[in-house]
Amino acid sequence: LAAQIIDGKKIADGIKDGLTHEIAVLKTKGIIPGLAVIMVGDDPASKKYVASKEKTCANLGISSFHYGLPATVSQKELLELVDKLNNEKKVSGILLQLPLPGGLKEKEAMNLISPDKDVDGFGPVSLGRLIMDEPVFIPCTPHGVMKMLESCEIDPAGKHAVVVGRSIIVGKPLSLLLLRKNATVTICHSRTPNLKEICASADILCAAAGRAGIITADMVRKGCTVIDVGINIISSGKIVGDVDFESVKEKASFISPVPGGVGPMTIAMLMHNTVIAARIQAGSLT
Ligand code: NAD
Repeated sequence: LAAQIIDGKKIADGIKDGLTHEIAVLKTKGIIPGLAVIMVGDDPASKKYVASKEKTCANLGISSFHYGLPATVSQKELLELVDKLNNEKKVSGILLQLPLPGGLKEKEAMNLISPDKDVDGFGPVSLGRLIMDEPVFIPCTPHGVMKMLESCEIDPAGKHAVVVGRSIIVGKPLSLLLLRKNATVTICHSRTPNLKEICASADILCAAAGRAGIITADMVRKGCTVIDVGINIISSGKIVGDVDFESVKEKASFISPVPGGVGPMTIAMLMHNTVIAARIQAGSLT
């Protein structure tokens, strides 16, 4: 029996509907969530993501403020902008679109974002809070993955969850979130020698390596839940995930597609974090 396809777009639409209502209520109290997006240079993929985030803001009633900087911008100018936005009242959340062009120090800029406006959740305070089990801003992609599991009524408790990838953006926070939900978590990465064996023992397999088709059917246990975080553009121009979807869907019980899986969830969770940020700044959330 082929797997149930997890419709990330539909789940994300449900989350956004809830947020639209919450934003309308906030507006009656004079609170308007606002997202500042800093985009440095003109990387085509980044431009696409930013446009999509800004469009979603508009649809939901979140103000968005676009700061496009040339790739030649100095580190000092970038830091000055972050500092200015930290102190800007109408800006609830600050998103620094990554990767930054070469020469700029990403970590220094990210670390300057006020912990109260860190809607991406990549700053040291946000990640520290997550590891201490007191999260405020959960990184959007891993949070989206958890919401997908929840929506399919898949409880990670007691299950073996395998995460392929250990980045700060996806792999590490996702592993922590699965652990918080009482899964037994194994993190695999580029130096893991027996990837196939470990993946084959997973009840929940999350692929976030950024390698097209790295997860093949022989690496997946029958009945496994497979979440594909990867976004890879192959030579034909097609966007594919890390999972060989066609073969793996015959073995998995649930599988998320690319596109239409984790991607829309990420944006929905960014909007969720922006609303939390607006409430924090209005003093209505502690
Ligand atoms: P990254 O390059 O920072 O990290 C990739 C990780 O995969 C590393 O930890 C590395 O050790 C591991 N890895 C690489 N090759 C491997 C291999 N052969 N075997 C095992 N592990 C391997 O990337 P990232 O930012 O974590 O993103 C991962 C993927 O997720 C990318 O395709 C990215 O485009 C995608 N992504 C999607 C969304 C979304 O919204 N759907 C959001 C963020 C990232």
